Amino acid sequence: MTSLLEFDRTHLWHPYTSMTDPLPVYEVASAQGVRLRLADGRELIDGMSSWWAAIHGYNHPALNQAATEQLAKMAHVMFGGITHQPAVNLAQRLLAMTPPPLQRVFLCDSGSVAVEAAIKMAIQYWQAAGKEKKTKLLTIRGGYHGDTFGAMAVCDPENGMHHLFKGVLAEHLFAPLVNCGFSDPWDQRCLAPFRSLLEENHHRIAAVILEPIVQGAGGMRFYHPQFLTEARALCDQHKILLIVDEIATGFGRTGKLFGCEHAHISPDIMCVGKALTGGYLTLAATLTTEKIATTISTADPGLFMHGPTFMANPLACAVAEASLQLLQDSPWQERVDTIAKVLQTELALCGDFPSVATVRTLGAIGVVEMKKPVDVAKLQRKFVERGVWIRPFGKLVYLMPPYIINTEDLKQLTEAMIAVLREIEA
Ligand SMILES: *Cc1c(COP(=O)(O)O)cnc(C)c1O
Repeated sequence: MTSLLEFDRTHLWHPYTSMTDPLPVYEVASAQGVRLRLADGRELIDGMSSWWAAIHGYNHPALNQAATEQLAKMAHVMFGGITHQPAVNLAQRLLAMTPPPLQRVFLCDSGSVAVEAAIKMAIQYWQAAGKEKKTKLLTIRGGYHGDTFGAMAVCDPENGMHHLFKGVLAEHLFAPLVNCGFSDPWDQRCLAPFRSLLEENHHRIAAVILEPIVQGAGGMRFYHPQFLTEARALCDQHKILLIVDEIATGFGRTGKLFGCEHAHISPDIMCVGKALTGGYLTLAATLTTEKIATTISTADPGLFMHGPTFMANPLACAVAEASLQLLQDSPWQERVDTIAKVLQTELALCGDFPSVATVRTLGAIGVVEMKKPVDVAKLQRKFVERGVWIRPFGKLVYLMPPYIINTEDLKQLTEAMIAVLREIEA
């Protein structure tokens, strides 16, 4: 009989892995609070929130209850010709939390799909407005917006391996990385290349798409809020829509409820996902303004051309609504600020390790960027031996724990990180 791990190794793809030389995986049997319990009984403190999602920790009674109660009514029903309380409750809550111009909600099944819907909305909007030439997107390097083709086309061209899909992928416009960090003094020159690209191409640009302030999987960089403020102004000036992808930054992670609040702007289209259901189920949403929705809906073909099978899945909507309520009723800001302080103080200790390039923290995100890509399998094993779950990628070793983590557990994460990085120096 083959063991579970052997079967997995032979038959299951994991995210971004080889099927002939896969990285090792660990079997998790259950999870509770900030702890993952492995099948062999070991417990790991979770430093990843399952990729930005599990902000309330695992196995939360309020979310369990929301799921169970909804399950007893219906797990799913089609959204074509049907509506339901969970979708309406969730949309109401989302509209109350997000910037006021956003008034129309498209509920979909994953972050990538939310980005596809956002891109489609922007293009359909300009077609409806009689500006058919506006089909390009402008973004900056270092971004990540998802793995489907539309989303991939606006990911960083190198990280996103655009050469692999050349000829298949839509070609968009990329400004260089924003050369001005979150807490650097703002320098107007950081805007110049983006501004020229936008000014030279505005007649064919449908939308600018940006992750607000924090670029996630494209490199975990934190850029200056003024860049976003300026981008908003340029979009207004040149009649270009602004899409903010809040899928990673949304719901408090950066210290504000949404990343765009750092820049005091509101977008024309916003994508949310990841933490939306507190990490329970896959669900995302694309929000837009009344004007955009009306324009799309009143020109040929009079429809927004998207409609996933599992659109507005009731189970996911019910859990999402409970998760947002839990967030709003919790002292999340205090918790994120406390995490921010600990990450900043503790991670500074590895700032002068010879193999460390930089350390940066913002909200409940702590990033150590190494000079060279790390051996992921080796580091992961060392972390597991120390009772923590930290999964590096490329040159980045980073923490983004659930908001409910206490200082003692958080320090165990930072101490493990420092100890392992010191060990690999030796
Ligand atoms: C994760 C992520 C996505 C894609 O979401 P999926 O649910 O993985 O499809 C899109 N944009 C950003 C900023 C993300 O972090």
